[in-house]
Amino acid sequence: MNILLVHAHPEARSLNGTLARFMREHLEAAGHTVQVSDLHAMRWKATLDADDFPARDRATPFRPAGDSQQAYASGQQTRDVAAEQAKLLWADTVILQFPIWWFSMPAILKGWVDRVYAYGFAYGVGEHSERRWGDRYGEGTLAGKRAMLVVTAGGWASHYAPRGINGPIDDLLFPIQHGILYYPGFTVLPPFVVYRSDRMDAARLAQVQAELAARLDTLATVAPVPFRPQNAGDYDIPAMTLREPIAPGRTGFGIHQVEGGA
Ligand code: FAD
Repeated sequence: MNILLVHAHPEARSLNGTLARFMREHLEAAGHTVQVSDLHAMRWKATLDADDFPARDRATPFRPAGDSQQAYASGQQTRDVAAEQAKLLWADTVILQFPIWWFSMPAILKGWVDRVYAYGFAYGVGEHSERRWGDRYGEGTLAGKRAMLVVTAGGWASHYAPRGINGPIDDLLFPIQHGILYYPGFTVLPPFVVYRSDRMDAARLAQVQAELAARLDTLATVAPVPFRPQNAGDYDIPAMTLREPIAPGRTGFGIHQVEGGA
């Protein structure tokens, strides 16, 4: 299988750097082909701005989505963005790996998403009409590929439990798993989360790596997070709200998963 690992940590000798090397070695030993986008090593440009579109008409105001659409459609994207899109198309499975910083991904990785997920590539795909709101949430350019988060958090597992003060981990990761991965079509695998990551020693690292190895060994077979596809009848169109008979009386992120699994 072709696997793309997108890694966002500024220090190669960090826990995340150690886990990235471990993942690459483990996956290659299992016969997979691995590409790593080490965003800091690549000196990835994190901000989406007018410099990303050198061919645009400078006399008109910069339009992030419109200029993205134009550049993607006309093959005038910057080389770094086009290269990352090619890696995504090449991959069967994509792993995003990062430390949780302020309840989300580090800015450099968010910037990778902002720039690589072009209009026409990750959004604005498919028919948009009164009958259909595009190919997204289970459909789209990246449909058929699997994706998984590997994240470290300083907080304890209990801090991220259903009644934990930080909020449930599934809710925290919802914007990434549902909004960034499921939206352009990925099948989303359950995340691998290392809690209390600032308290690590050799023995605990060995245990974490054994658990991570087990997850990597089941990338192709593990049951995905059962998010509801947009275009399978669960949502009213064009309001895009979950139809009333489904999950009656419930609200919140959890309603966008099928109860009891896929
Ligand atoms: P490191 O700092 O590199 O290492 C962590 C521990 O692992 C250290 O004890 C280190 O000695 C040990 N270690 C590293 N490599 C090895 C090795 N090879 N062998 C053995 N031991 C090793 N946490 C939250 O829960 N929620 C937040 O919202 C949040 N926001 C943050 C915002 C910022 C800006 C920052 C800096 C941190 C935040 N944190 C938060 C904490 C953060 O998630 C953790 O610090 C991070 O996950 C640890 O990963 P690391 O790779 O940076 O670890």
